[in-house]
Amino acid sequence: MAEKRGNLSINSDNIFPIIKKWLYSDHDIFFRELISNGCDAITKLNKLDMMGEYNYPEGHKNKVEVILDPEKKTLKFTDTGLGMTADEVEEYITQIAFSGATEFLEKYKDKTEGDQIIGHFGLGFYSAFMVADEVHIDTLSYKEGAEPVHWECDGGTEYTMKTGTKSEVGTEITLFLNEESTEFTNEYRAREIIEKYCSFMPTEIFLSVEGKEQEYETIPEEDLKEDDVVVEHIHEDAKTEEREKEDGTKETVEISPAREMVKINKRPVSLSDTHPLWMKRPNDCTDEEYKAFYHKVFHDFKEPLFWIHLNMDYPFNLKGILYFPQINTEYDSIEGTIKLYNNQVFIADNIKEVIPEFLMLLKGVIDCPDLPLNVSRSALQNDGFVQKISSYITKKVADKLTGMCKNDRESYEKYWDDISPFIKFGFIRDQKFAEKIKDYLLFKNMEHKYVTLSDLVPAPASDDDVTTLYYITDEVQQSQYINMFKEQGMDAVILNQNIDSAFITQIEQQNQHIKFKRIDADVEEALKEKTDEKELEDITKALTDLFRKTLGKENLDVHVEKLKDEKISSIITLSEESRRMQDMMKMYGMPGMDPNMFGGAQESLTLNANNSLVQYLFEHGDADNAKIICEQLYDLAMLSHKPLEPEAMTKFIARSNKIMEMLTK
Ligand code: ADP
Ligand code: MG
Repeated sequence: MAEKRGNLSINSDNIFPIIKKWLYSDHDIFFRELISNGCDAITKLNKLDMMGEYNYPEGHKNKVEVILDPEKKTLKFTDTGLGMTADEVEEYITQIAFSGATEFLEKYKDKTEGDQIIGHFGLGFYSAFMVADEVHIDTLSYKEGAEPVHWECDGGTEYTMKTGTKSEVGTEITLFLNEESTEFTNEYRAREIIEKYCSFMPTEIFLSVEGKEQEYETIPEEDLKEDDVVVEHIHEDAKTEEREKEDGTKETVEISPAREMVKINKRPVSLSDTHPLWMKRPNDCTDEEYKAFYHKVFHDFKEPLFWIHLNMDYPFNLKGILYFPQINTEYDSIEGTIKLYNNQVFIADNIKEVIPEFLMLLKGVIDCPDLPLNVSRSALQNDGFVQKISSYITKKVADKLTGMCKNDRESYEKYWDDISPFIKFGFIRDQKFAEKIKDYLLFKNMEHKYVTLSDLVPAPASDDDVTTLYYITDEVQQSQYINMFKEQGMDAVILNQNIDSAFITQIEQQNQHIKFKRIDADVEEALKEKTDEKELEDITKALTDLFRKTLGKENLDVHVEKLKDEKISSIITLSEESRRMQDMMKMYGMPGMDPNMFGGAQESLTLNANNSLVQYLFEHGDADNAKIICEQLYDLAMLSHKPLEPEAMTKFIARSNKIMEMLTK
């Protein structure tokens, strides 16, 4: 072949600066592109072999090899794929890239956001120029009589092509790294990148370092495989030991028999698992395999709770496994990872355009070869096909959960505390999911039994029939109220997760006949004795004055009631609306702001007229110890409502000590 020089036919002056700029944040992606090209080439040759258009030579083994040379600052990517003829190099490398490139340039000239779709523009090969000053291709086509080709290009728009020297079918790409990119010849760095992008590619991938000393391993001769390079045969004598018998004489026993061993060149280990679990049929996978895969891919030492194997061929192709991770509810932030693959080639984590937001709390892999990744992310978001994928996944997850609730309620309850933040998040964020899951939401009641919404709320008799559901956010803090409820045979549910305030708001919005009320929002009628208003008028007035004056709180809201439980002296309540307002302000970073400013009410103090201390205060409001009793009753009520402020706590402790001292006098 005559040496040929030419210009890369690009519409723009030079595509390389754009490639470099565009993928600035993801320089390592060229590994994926070049390795996946090698895999593609092997897949194509496999097909040709199957169709009888090509026959692999005896003992042939397909592989992609990455060879690092730190000294020369080069990287080689070799594959045993179908190779290219000179015409093909011309067409696929120097020309076609740029039909894709033209489109690409038009769309992305002005964009700097690091997107992940370069490989899908037929530009993958050129990602090599992100890190290399010069790139060589040596290739030999599988076609009969094909001549080897050597192509080189130094990153400008010119290239040369001539007859090469490659003697085996396949392709070798050599990158001469630029000064900023020499890190990629570091073995650990390279391994890390290959494991990130190529762990599940369908071909074996080997990494080696040029000039690295040969490593050896020694194995029993019978384990020898065809590919092993034997360096030395080693005979190991049997190992014996002298032992004393019971009668005192000695005998020699054999501990291990004589063995024939061989020292071989250390076997190369493929970095890719060519048959990832998600590609198998769900019926063929064992629990152990699912768990092992989970540990390996997500480096989570905890066991997953359960998983969903997605496997769909029609109307689109989608496979994957979604795991429900165990979460530590003490730490509220749950962060999952959904890895997206395209034909076993890793694309990216958590692409929110494809995967419903609430599913990102799970851990999983999704492989979808049909994804139209050659469009921008904003287009993905509006793509009907992508939305179908997304709702298919949502449906599968909902089906799994509702199925478990119906058929294996015990497990569902066992997992509930772990999976509920995820379900609640989905319930709030995803209408379709909410619709499916709404009858399968569980609530833990005061007895720690799980009940559903329909167990708790009778069907409304009329439009304005509203049921109040009481809830507990802190079983310790609110124990006084819980006990009052228990005594009256009333129930409440425990809602102690961060997401619960948004969750109950959502339920209320969807069910106009349900109202949630925290257990300490009011003194409920059921806890009070019937009285007529007149009866308590005097005592209310007297005690209001006394408490306001003693505590120095002029606007304190004081109520006096006859509570059925006479042991209770005082309680603090905060209306549901005010508390939600307070929570909201806390959430938006305005803690301690006076809720009155927003029209909310403040906390109310309710005193129990049936309690002897309260009666004492009414009768002896001007006694010496009235002040200390007032303060203590107020703090005690506060304590079972929310934690005291530091200053109030200090005073409370000092006062408590003083009260005990008084007992000794
Ligand atoms: P894409 O892989 O999306 O087609 P690339 O820029 O990565 O885009 O590659 C362009 C074309 O060059 C490929 O479609 C293929 O025909 C050819 N090619 C690239 N690398 C190889 C290789 N290692 N072996 C054979 N052909 C290759
Ligand atoms: Mg490619």
